[in-house]
Amino acid sequence: MTDNTGENDALRAKVADANQQSRQRLASTSGNPPEPPARRCDECWDIKRRRAAALRADDRQEAARMTTAMGVHQRRAH
Ligand SMILES: [Zn+2]
Repeated sequence: MTDNTGENDALRAKVADANQQSRQRLASTSGNPPEPPARRCDECWDIKRRRAAALRADDRQEAARMTTAMGVHQRRAH
């Protein structure tokens, strides 16, 4: 009876596939992003924004100041 064995294998494969799919769904809905917006520090965000603006304006001195400010702030506040 080789038919029976083949059916069981097919069923096992289907179940394994369904399990994997539900695991992937769980991971994508409840997985924590590395930097959740709600918990982002206001000052970090402000420094990042000012540094990005300085880079856009090609203001390297201001960008460097913001990089330093971020380093200092990270050490003090985090
Ligand atoms: Zn911060």
